[in-house]
Amino acid sequence: MTDTAASRLGDTPAGDLSALRKGNRMRVLAALRDYGPQSQKDLAARVKLSQASISNMVAELLELDQVTLTERVDRRRYKIVSLSGRLGLVLGIGVDHQKIDVVLGNLACEIYQSRSMSTSPELTPIEMLKSAVTLAEECIAGAGRKPADVVAVGLSLPSPIAGPATAVEPAFPQWWSVHPVQWLTARLGARVVLDNAAYAATMAEWRWGAGRGCSDFLNVTVADGIGAGFVLANRIYHGGLGGGGEIGHVVVEPGGGQRCRCGNSGCLETFASLPAMLRTAQEAGARVTTHEEFLDAAVAGDAVCLDIVTRESHRIGSVLGSVASLLSPTRIIIGGTLARASSVALPALRRGFADAVIPTMPVQPAVIEAELNEASIAVGAMAIATASLPDEDLLQLSQRGG
Ligand SMILES: [Zn+2]
Repeated sequence: MTDTAASRLGDTPAGDLSALRKGNRMRVLAALRDYGPQSQKDLAARVKLSQASISNMVAELLELDQVTLTERVDRRRYKIVSLSGRLGLVLGIGVDHQKIDVVLGNLACEIYQSRSMSTSPELTPIEMLKSAVTLAEECIAGAGRKPADVVAVGLSLPSPIAGPATAVEPAFPQWWSVHPVQWLTARLGARVVLDNAAYAATMAEWRWGAGRGCSDFLNVTVADGIGAGFVLANRIYHGGLGGGGEIGHVVVEPGGGQRCRCGNSGCLETFASLPAMLRTAQEAGARVTTHEEFLDAAVAGDAVCLDIVTRESHRIGSVLGSVASLLSPTRIIIGGTLARASSVALPALRRGFADAVIPTMPVQPAVIEAELNEASIAVGAMAIATASLPDEDLLQLSQRGG
């Protein structure tokens, strides 16, 4: 996603009507790339053109086969503008500790094909990437298309990334020597964008889930780790160094608990991630062996498991309350494996949140459940790849027209 589209592509010589029209056309395409399918009214507001000008522009782009119009009925009847699927295909790849998901869609984020396979801890990063390529090839063949039709690839990994870019490496040691972006670019022949799973999930919730239409929210995933993605002022926010959202590594008990995988001690994740809660439950004598068994026992009222879920959800909530005081989001979305026990976890998390957030704020953020959850990571990676297409590439695709 770039800030430059509207300004740079719309920077046309005064008085040159044809250049002006071309500039406006590109601003419309760039807004559809950055914010996904949207109504003509939203589009007009984003590119700062009148409704009449947008209608004319959309009609021109329809003629050129660069956008599509679909009717939506949601209390009232209106039309949604999307980038045309003919502009190119996009792959989304989500790799985590348990599985690889691959989806194939188009620049309008319509999904044509999806494939998944489970992984095992013994697989090396290269073996995982090779499997992802095999799944991607199956998706492309399944859609009756060819690899050259793919114009962008989004790759999501379950580790901090040193910035949303094409040439940075994940921060976790097993991936240090792998260069996944270069590796995938060489095999798939398309531009590859790397981001972490928390941001891919955030993008998916923003486009299709509980963050729809929201300009400022946090999307928090509580699973093997605890990650968050920020959308601030209508932008995915990675921070200046690219490592934003690592809420699981907020130190909640300095020097306490087990040493964290990040190297510190006392991180939220070492108490409130699913592996940490399961370990605490087992140490307290609970007969549960998986995250799911542990969460189901808590929902069923097992005293030990329920106490741990309640206490740790409260702790997550209090960290989020502090974050909300800093950033003032309108929504906080909670997803991940913890959602399985949301009936007990969410009320406790909300109490922890209320205890920590500034109580005199006139309006408090809504703490709500994710709609799409972890299944959405590959889809989110696909949307990130679309939103990251450089202006030049979008321009070239629209001129190529297919
Ligand atoms: Zn940590």
